[in-house]
Amino acid sequence: MTRATAAGAPVDPGHAGGARPALSTIGERDLAGLLRELGQPSWRARQLREATWHPYVGGFEEIRQLPGGLRVELDHRLRFSKAAVTSERVADAGQTLKLLCALDGPQTVETVAMESPARGASGRRATVCVSTQVGCAVGCPFCATGRMGLRRSCTPAEVVDQVRLAGQALFRHALGPVTHVVYMGMGEPLAAYETTLASLRVLVAAGGISPRRITVSTSGVVPGIRRLSTEGLPVTLAVSLHAASDELRNRLVPLNRAHPLDGLVAAAGAYARATGRRLSLEWCLIGGVNDGLDQAAGLVAIARRLGAHVNVIPMNRIVGSPWGPPAAAVGRAFMRHLTGAGVTVTVRDTRGGEAEAACGQLRAALEPRRQLRPDGTLTPQRPVRRGASIRG
Ligand code: SF4
Repeated sequence: MTRATAAGAPVDPGHAGGARPALSTIGERDLAGLLRELGQPSWRARQLREATWHPYVGGFEEIRQLPGGLRVELDHRLRFSKAAVTSERVADAGQTLKLLCALDGPQTVETVAMESPARGASGRRATVCVSTQVGCAVGCPFCATGRMGLRRSCTPAEVVDQVRLAGQALFRHALGPVTHVVYMGMGEPLAAYETTLASLRVLVAAGGISPRRITVSTSGVVPGIRRLSTEGLPVTLAVSLHAASDELRNRLVPLNRAHPLDGLVAAAGAYARATGRRLSLEWCLIGGVNDGLDQAAGLVAIARRLGAHVNVIPMNRIVGSPWGPPAAAVGRAFMRHLTGAGVTVTVRDTRGGEAEAACGQLRAALEPRRQLRPDGTLTPQRPVRRGASIRG
């Protein structure tokens, strides 16, 4: 039975390691072959795949549609999941769940699940934010993940399993089911292109999540944007812009030196035309850095050119950074400039800020308790600090 336990202990320790291949890494043909070998009818593979997406199913033994002997046999041969929740923090009056997921080996990534009540014409949402990499090579100075550097990319199965684990966590808290997925956690999704693409295909085909309910965020990997526009997957593209001039963007998003704004804006425009999807521009608003009216004017020009929606996210403070959100009056003036120019803007609440949900912060809070060995692995995790809420 999958369940939350004390901090540091995998919620589903039996499925976090070992030599058994994970279910989500088995291709359809191999799964059908395995089930045939076990004397099962051909329709059993589809039944099994569908069952794995039920949020109350955390292991083979919980798939009651399967015969008992088959459940035991599958558990001997396969791991149910490539990832396991090692800690869970709850924020926003129980509507945001911040999960730390252990992957194969010693690495962990962050996954966030958020429930939003129905608002106006839009219904209730339960959004899962997945990580595609352990750390990130882009190195944005306002981001906790960027400080880690890149350790490795996730596998497609590890991304898919983050969605399934988040769905199970939402279910445990009487929230969900998952309606939306955003690739906005740790890492640069288009730098882990094959992982992102393969996991998108599984989420759409097996998970039944419409591409229109999936957002892939990028800090500006231009070749990746161009390639994604040809894949026949009309997901929403969110460009993490953060600056409207190359000079400032070179500092805030170092990838800009390789892919400057002109080429990025052109690729994003081509993506919107090819997929018919409206773009989002993300702007982490940092006090005294990118909150001036000159930057607001540049943002207006880019948003108008692309017909894009703008999401402004006041910066979450991270330990060791002098930067933070702007003064309230400065933030209001920035917003007034955008809306006054007719740009549609949403100020994203920093959901999970209470649970250190800004990119990389939960892991950053835990990692000082672990040491990085010369070979890139971590020493065993010690308990989470006092006061952190761990629930199951
Ligand atoms: S903000 Fe995104 S792209 Fe930049 S370092 Fe953090 S994870 Fe990487």
